[in-house]
Amino acid sequence: MTVSKLARKTVRELTPYQSARRLGGSGDIWLNANESPFANEYNIKCDRLNRYSTCQPEELIQAYADYAGIKKEQVLTSRGADEGIELLIRAFCEPNQDSILYCPPTYGMYAISAETFDVSAKTVPLTADWQLDLATIRDNLDGVKLIFVCSPNNPTGNLLDRQDIEALLDMAADNALVVVDEAYIDFCPEASTVDLLDRYPNLVILRTLSKAFALAGLRCGFTLANPDIIELLLKVIAPYPVPVPVTDIAVQALSPAGLAKTKFQVLDLNANRAYLQAGLSMLEGVTVYDGYGNYLLVKFPDANALFAALWDHGIILRRSPIENCIRISIGNRDECEKTLAFIREQLAQN
Ligand code: PMP
Repeated sequence: MTVSKLARKTVRELTPYQSARRLGGSGDIWLNANESPFANEYNIKCDRLNRYSTCQPEELIQAYADYAGIKKEQVLTSRGADEGIELLIRAFCEPNQDSILYCPPTYGMYAISAETFDVSAKTVPLTADWQLDLATIRDNLDGVKLIFVCSPNNPTGNLLDRQDIEALLDMAADNALVVVDEAYIDFCPEASTVDLLDRYPNLVILRTLSKAFALAGLRCGFTLANPDIIELLLKVIAPYPVPVPVTDIAVQALSPAGLAKTKFQVLDLNANRAYLQAGLSMLEGVTVYDGYGNYLLVKFPDANALFAALWDHGIILRRSPIENCIRISIGNRDECEKTLAFIREQLAQN
């Protein structure tokens, strides 16, 4: 296709994000995308589809604001947290001039979204215990408009030290926004930084219904920030970004009954995580890192061989760029038991 040469150079040369779905695989046990194993059912009223939705459906925004304990002016809803990342970069970063900063190993979309918009991405790796390296961040803040941090961090699973996040917010002051990605915070709500929103005008929090709310397929996320930031993001978001059926389902998920169900499922998944962690920790040569989301990062003696054996057996996990590490999403108890049993068997053979 010669017309492909018309595309922007950046896009032609871009290596896209390797989402779990893109990587394929076939099997019965899917623990590679940090989805929920619960197939919840919702009723969809489709009697308004001839009309555009409102840009930010009041009922949905209010429901999430109530859930998060903030004001509705501090909430924006978008097509997953991924769109929130994109909107922030589009609204705040001048292409070919400004930078974002992020701290690997972490979620891959901060860098890819930035690259897509010709915004450079500076990296300051997390420390050996996967915390923020504040001194090195301070040395690299020149030209940085957005600092992305993730807590619980994907893929390591740990929480970032709250004092460090506050120090980062002070350090960034009015030169940069600190974006705390809380995609997995519903599994450990006490660790949220949402209570800092009123104190720090440069704090932005990303949330999603994809994980604890078991709605990855819905594509519904939230950006929480001070109202001035929300106003700016509303300038760059698409005119009708939230499909009517999405609003209907999300409002049900955030209703008292929906929230109760999610709370119950979170307890269940956290118990399964503890089960998997305890079982894997007993295996020789295996290190399980403490995880606070619906996944565990696990180090094996030979992760490549094990990953391939699991894949061939129809247990689809996620390779991590961290040496010999595999990320395992927490499934239902049966999936966790089967995965643990197969890993135990494989390691015993070698
Ligand atoms: N942030 C993190 C840390 C994630 O792991 C993910 C999804 N894997 C997202 C954001 C994107 O979530 P959403 O499905 O809401 O776009």
